[in-house]
This record gives sequence, structure tokens and C-alpha cells, in this order.
Amino acid sequence: MPEISLLQHITDPLLTQKGVELWVLREDLLHPGIPGNKWRKLKYNLQAAREQGCETLVTFGGAFSNHIAAVAAAGREFGFSTIGYIRGEETLPLNPTLHFATQCGMQLRYLSRSDYRLRHEPHFQAEILKTAPKPYLLPEGGTNLLAVKGCTEIVSELTEPWDVLCVAAGTGGTLAGIIAGAAGKGHIIGFPALKGGEFLQKDVTDLVQAYSGLTYHNWDLQTGYHFGGYAKHKPELLAFIQDFHAQHGILLDPVYTGKMLYGVFDLLRQEYFPRGARLIAVHTGGQQGWAGYAQRYGLELDFLR
Ligand SMILES: *Cc1c(COP(=O)(O)O)cnc(C)c1O
Repeated sequence: MPEISLLQHITDPLLTQKGVELWVLREDLLHPGIPGNKWRKLKYNLQAAREQGCETLVTFGGAFSNHIAAVAAAGREFGFSTIGYIRGEETLPLNPTLHFATQCGMQLRYLSRSDYRLRHEPHFQAEILKTAPKPYLLPEGGTNLLAVKGCTEIVSELTEPWDVLCVAAGTGGTLAGIIAGAAGKGHIIGFPALKGGEFLQKDVTDLVQAYSGLTYHNWDLQTGYHFGGYAKHKPELLAFIQDFHAQHGILLDPVYTGKMLYGVFDLLRQEYFPRGARLIAVHTGGQQGWAGYAQRYGLELDFLR
């Protein structure tokens, strides 16, 4: 399997002025079909599914979900059938994410918003699994302890010294893996993509504890960079992403990594980081979301052409 983990150094007058070094860890280039943290989160789950003789990956997600796209691609690549339970009603034509998923062979099933709320209930899951041959259940967003294990490797594979590691957070599984992998070293900052991301304090603490049996205090959340909530469109964020792409040749995504790096630069302006600090911002991928995002908000984006 081609696995690379590439650190791209960022040069910017603001970084020079503040005496801070920044690298972007290109996890988005890690695996061609299954980018970023979704590959990290799936890796040991796919191994477990195979070892248990499972044939069908069953999971949940929203209609634009990076996780749905990743599971569909992983199923195709590693020879599993896939079923995706999608929140809400079917909309035709399918949006680019769901179109891609069906192209990979994923069977889509739609759940009303009220049924979708039951997705974590063991009873509801058991009913759903009865309808799939030899199923392996992946939770929404793919976060479980094997996902956390996969994400510890984001840190353990780093060879360069660093002081601060920044990462976007949805369910917090990736952040939990990074905290566990760092094992008390450095400082880790999670940037929730959702409004009200304070809930991640407990979720992430619980995940780290369940995975490692330990509690670490060398991390925190920056909850002020959600831009109105999950997958909301804000021109200011889009302008930042376009500028970052023009300056550094790195395409961020609009739901997670764009907000995180916007936050990093905002904190930089506020002199949040001490002079001499070496920062790593993890690019967790998510670029598949652009096509659907542009369609949904009627945007003409030159970097998508
Ligand atoms: C899913 C995703 C995240 C969030 O990962 P969690 O483990 O759920 O916190 C971050 N960035 C991108 C690009 C993603 O697709």
C-alpha cells in the first residue's frame, strides 16, 4: 500500500513576523482513493472485518459525508460490499458524493431524520444488520477504538520535532488518536467544525481513556472557528481557502481543514503561539466535498475546473 506522510513547509510573512514555523502534514495525499484521516480510521477496521469473515461494510452518514465516500471507496478497493444509510430523503439526481458512492458499488438506503437519530441504539443497529449479509458495522464518521488506533499513527510516524499539532474535529476520533499517539508530548489543539463543539471535551477524553487507559491534559479545543455550524457557507472562509490555495498550492476543504487553518492564522495574529514554536497542521483531506458544496451554494470555483 502506498503510504507517504509528507510535511510541507509554509512560508508566510505573518509566520516570519511572529517567529513561528508551520508545516502542513499532507494526510490528504496518504492514500489515493481514501484520503486523509478516513484512511487512518478505516485501516484497522478493514483488517478486523476481514479477520471476522465479514462481507458487507454498513455505515451511516449525511448526504455529503466524506466518511460515506471513503467507505464506498474502501469497499471497492478491498472487496467488501457496502451499504450506506443516508440521513434524510433521496434527492435526484444524486449529489456528487452519493453519485461517487454508488459508482463504487455502495447501496444507499435513506433514513428519515427521526430514524437517523436512532443510529447509535444497539436495538436499531441490530435490526439494520439483519438485512445485510455478514455485516461489519462502522459508526457514523467511522469513530471507534480501532479508528483511534489508526489515528495514533499520524503522530507516531512523524519524524520531525514539533511543539503544537493542530487538527480539525468532527466526532473527535482523529483528535483522540493524535492525543493518545502523542502520549503527553507537545500540545494538541482541536478545531471543532460543528457549533457547540464543547461536547468534544468529554467525548475525546472518554475515547482517549477507553483506548489507552490514560488521561492527558496537553490538549484543548478552539471552539470559535465553526463559521456558523457544520458545512455552512461563509464568504470569509471561502476567501481564506482561495487565498491559501493561491499562496501555498494546497487545497483545503470547506467543512474541516479550511476552518482549522483559518483558526491557526487567527491565533497566530493574536500571538497565541510563543515565538520559536513549531506547528504542524494536519490536512485531513475532505476535498471530495467541494463539488457538492459548490453545487449546493451555487458557487463558481476556479480551482475546481
Ligand atoms: C471526517 C473528517 C474530519 C473529522 O474527523 P473526526 O475523527 O470525526 O473528528 C476532519 N477532517 C476531514 C477532512 C474529515 O473528512
